[in-house]
Amino acid sequence: MAPPQGPRPPLEFGGPLGAAALTLLLPATMFHLLLVARSGPARLLGPPPSLPGLEVLWSPRVLLLWLTWLGLQAGLYLLPASKMAEGQELKDKSRLRYPINGFQALVLTALLVGLGVAAGLPLVTLPEMLLPLAFAATLTAFIFSLLLYVKSLVAPAWALAPGGNSGNPIYDFFLGRELNPQAGFLDIKYFCELRPGLIGWVLINLSLLMQEVELRGSPSLAMCLVNGFQLLYVGDALWHEEAILTTMDITHDGFGFMLAFGDLAWVPFTYSLQAQFLLHHPQPLGLPMASIICFINVIGYYIFRGANSQKNTFRKNPSDPRVADLETISTATGRRLLVSGWWGMVRHPNYLGDLIMALAWSLPCGVCHLLPYFYLFYFTVLLVHREARDEQQCLQKYGLAWHEYCQRVPYRIVPYIY
Ligand code: NDP
Repeated sequence: MAPPQGPRPPLEFGGPLGAAALTLLLPATMFHLLLVARSGPARLLGPPPSLPGLEVLWSPRVLLLWLTWLGLQAGLYLLPASKMAEGQELKDKSRLRYPINGFQALVLTALLVGLGVAAGLPLVTLPEMLLPLAFAATLTAFIFSLLLYVKSLVAPAWALAPGGNSGNPIYDFFLGRELNPQAGFLDIKYFCELRPGLIGWVLINLSLLMQEVELRGSPSLAMCLVNGFQLLYVGDALWHEEAILTTMDITHDGFGFMLAFGDLAWVPFTYSLQAQFLLHHPQPLGLPMASIICFINVIGYYIFRGANSQKNTFRKNPSDPRVADLETISTATGRRLLVSGWWGMVRHPNYLGDLIMALAWSLPCGVCHLLPYFYLFYFTVLLVHREARDEQQCLQKYGLAWHEYCQRVPYRIVPYIY
């Protein structure tokens, strides 16, 4: 095993015990949510609905369908891309090159699915397969992370993630040892981050809408809003795919169970909870309320996109006229930090926008059930924790300059509150 380089960063997520607990808790929570969404009372905090037998979860046919989906997305990834982008410099001074064709993959998937449905593909039956599909995705994530852990044992030291090589196998399996595992031309982490799970999420949403039409004759306004908002979010992420190359998932975290399960299972099956809930529990929604919800989503998107684009533009070219006038502070690394514009309002304006959108996705489901708000609660916890991790990393990177930034911009996510 290659020895790790430099001092080891402190353990996160409660160390090996926390990692072991999360490895079991995350899949258990996902199945609990899927079962609650289809149960009559849909009580998030009530007793768990009875567990289905293995015959409901395990289906070789569904596993094959899931693997075909992964294969299709891998094929679309390997298609020629109009642009190749360079990642950040690695420890051995090299840079990986990534195809920027995620949006193309979304459009081609939509085209293929459209042609398939016209030719009789029963997309409308997908909601009935959610449990075995989620089981197949969880199994894949486990096997994937195990294989990647074994592969990482022979990886050179420079290829390891800063955080995932503690020496404890459970912790390293969870966090991921290797930073950018490759399989031929495919960068496994980059591929999983935005494609099978994210595109799968909107496909699941669409199938839920189609089943609603079959059941009730037309799609409900609430279902249309949830589908529309989430399609905008996924389309936006894939349109701005290059921006993911500077996120901590790509530059800092290894590819272990946390990201593999998150990308392949958690995102498509729990992020589609609102649409799942609406199929089983239709909610009336009038035009005035729908307009208010659309307005909330627009505000959230405006902040989210404005903040992310401003930082990406600044990081790519600080002299770009769109950001050249913004006030900055210098750091010892040579990189500067924005202290005006969106990044002068709070230290993570993009998280604020994301949370406002999360609220807009839940509101079409009414206020009588907690389940559709699970995403908002979970996402708040995730972003507060992520913000703390990012602060720690920025403090290590920028030292005194980061302290100065925190003094100039005292609030983390919500102005005057947090
Ligand atoms: P961010 O885009 O928030 O990037 C954080 C980095 O930005 C820092 O490490 C630092 O890196 C740089 N930075 C911080 N402050 C400044 C500043 N003042 N001026 C210039 N640069 C600064 O990272 P995330 O990956 O957490 O988030 C990306 C997007 O993805 C967000 O919109 C988030 O909401 C979303 N997201 C969505 C998830 C979901 O499940 N839906 C999950 C996670 C994230 P450096 O200085 O090295 O450039």
